[in-house]
Amino acid sequence: MSASLATVSYIGATILFILSLGGLSNPETSRRGNVYGMIGMTIAVLATIFGPRVSMAGIPWIIGAMAVGGTVGLYAARKVQMTQMPELVAMMHSLVGLAAALVGFANYIDPAAAFQLSSAEKSIHEIEIYLGILIGAVTFSGSIIAFGKLAGKIGGKPLLLPGRHMLNLIGLLVVIFFGWQFLHSESVSAGMVGLTVMTIIALLFGIHMVMAIGGADMPVVVSMLNSYSGWAAAATGFMLNNDLLIVTGALVGSSGAILSYIMCRAMNRNFISVIAGGFGTGGGTPAAKGDAQPAGETVSITSAETAELLREAKNVIIVPGYGMAVAQAQHTVYEITKCLREKGVNVRFGIHPVAGRMPGHMNVLLAEAKVPYDIVMEMDEINADFPDTDVSMVIGANDIVNPAAQEDPGSPIAGMPVLEVWKAKTSIVMKRSMATGYAGVDNPLFYKENNRMLFGDAKKMLDEVLIALKT
Ligand code: NDP
Repeated sequence: MSASLATVSYIGATILFILSLGGLSNPETSRRGNVYGMIGMTIAVLATIFGPRVSMAGIPWIIGAMAVGGTVGLYAARKVQMTQMPELVAMMHSLVGLAAALVGFANYIDPAAAFQLSSAEKSIHEIEIYLGILIGAVTFSGSIIAFGKLAGKIGGKPLLLPGRHMLNLIGLLVVIFFGWQFLHSESVSAGMVGLTVMTIIALLFGIHMVMAIGGADMPVVVSMLNSYSGWAAAATGFMLNNDLLIVTGALVGSSGAILSYIMCRAMNRNFISVIAGGFGTGGGTPAAKGDAQPAGETVSITSAETAELLREAKNVIIVPGYGMAVAQAQHTVYEITKCLREKGVNVRFGIHPVAGRMPGHMNVLLAEAKVPYDIVMEMDEINADFPDTDVSMVIGANDIVNPAAQEDPGSPIAGMPVLEVWKAKTSIVMKRSMATGYAGVDNPLFYKENNRMLFGDAKKMLDEVLIALKT
């Protein structure tokens, strides 16, 4: 393939990636967005393999590596449960980081990479290598820890080392010092010393950064690591002189940063402190239980009574959370919605931006169950409507409906915007026990006078409610 054809293909792939991101911004167009992305990636891969930069001798190696990587990816994607998606994403980010770091080392060792460069160009090339490995290594180790935390293999409690900000600052100064040494090193072996020390510090920093983050802040971390992996890919693009990789990396990097910003707003966290890496537990206290412990009795309700309340309601708002995903109850939820709508009840859904375990988790599940988009509302669109609602039905959600976020300044989730389900005439919480949610915080909602608890697996209880509604 000629160089100009490869360039045209790259431009085509770039446009498809941008269209893909545009499509993914709305559930109705997301399927199309995915298709654009897949076509764009196929074009990009083919144009790279058969482009002018790869010799024929290299092609079998690339195809072999793709077969191995593709098989692992296919297996992981088929096997993964919807609720494990964030772990898979974190794992994928770690691979992007690892690739960036390895490409950096390979580029530095490869004598051909800097061949015929002027001394200024050589310095720029070395800065690209240094930064690429730095971002790659932080992304790699940070993502592995995020994977461990999301998968429950590492505890969700933040690890707060004494003087952790000072440690980070010292790490940064050492990285700058060795960067200077690296740029002024006379030989590759001397340069490798600086690179290796920096890589070790970057790996430790990635571990330290994510270990210091409390469970409730993990969504922001996942999207921050997504952003870092984009910048790592862009850095790889600079090292390899590959424009497509630079543009794609920048798209992922900036969209990840925008998503992090949106999530920070949704969780009332400060974006700048997240960017600076000083985020975690709102004031540096470990994610513990709130100061004001909720007290009182809970009132249970049966499925038949729930059905009765729903049948008599004019306005119902359903708030799904992680438990709905675990129970795979979305189809029954929609059956109930259809049944109630046929009876003239106005049923809508209230979706919190961090409900479940990944951004858009609930939207994906409701779309899978074919719930119409026009009754699925964002938190900001629906929060003011709870006082005019007869029944708010919380299905396997906990943190996102916790009034302590507003009422208890000592709570680890204080300030996080929540769906104000308790303002409805009656709220019904469907969960299996009194266990806490992801953030590990008690929920005073359960003890409110107008709240009822429907204990049991969400799918099982909703099946019972549906039968009761139909009889
Ligand atoms: P939570 O984790 O707060 O609560 C989920 C509740 O579902 C639990 O209390 C659990 O109670 C219940 N549950 C679990 N399984 C079932 C089941 N089979 N049937 C019925 N109930 C069940 O979830 P939310 O969606 O309310 O909040 C999301 C939390 O996750 C937030 O803290 C958010 O910060 C965090 N997070 C979000 C991410 C994102 O991007 N969306 C990523 C990572 C974390 P019980 O055991 O008693 O049944």
